[in-house]
Amino acid sequence: MRFQIAQSIAAVSGGEMVRPLEYQADWHGRTGVKIDKVYPLSTSKRCCDCGYIAPKRPIAIRSGACPEWGETHDRDINAAQNLLV
Ligand SMILES: [Zn+2]
Repeated sequence: MRFQIAQSIAAVSGGEMVRPLEYQADWHGRTGVKIDKVYPLSTSKRCCDCGYIAPKRPIAIRSGACPEWGETHDRDINAAQNLLV
């Protein structure tokens, strides 16, 4: 399911995806923050624990283990953790 969502997001141009998200954030009293697509050196590849940057991997690979700590991270959760910093 998440892979299908990621494919759908990739297929939609940036503006078409951002406007509804900004509307939803505003509607729910939240703050929407648009992140540059290259910020910061791919959030899904950078380990949120130690900063190790994994090699590029296909989007169908949804998790990965950090070779430094041995911890396995969900790709989306790891990216979200990096954006919170
Ligand atoms: Zn790590």
